Amino acid sequence: MEQKTLVCVCPECKNMVDLSRYPNLKVGDVIECQTCGVTLEVKNIGGGQVEVDIVDEGK
Ligand SMILES: [Zn+2]
Repeated sequence: MEQKTLVCVCPECKNMVDLSRYPNLKVGDVIECQTCGVTLEVKNIGGGQVEVDIVDEGK
């Protein structure tokens, strides 16, 4: 089995988010940017890119 490499750019700090700790990433998952610590929700995965939105934790 070949593992696809996904990339995700943090919308907050514009740095790459390390996705190696999320081996089974899917839409709806919540991940964290290791650079700025913001919480991100996966909105779409396609073409090797992960699209995320910043999660407002103030709920
Ligand atoms: Zn960030």
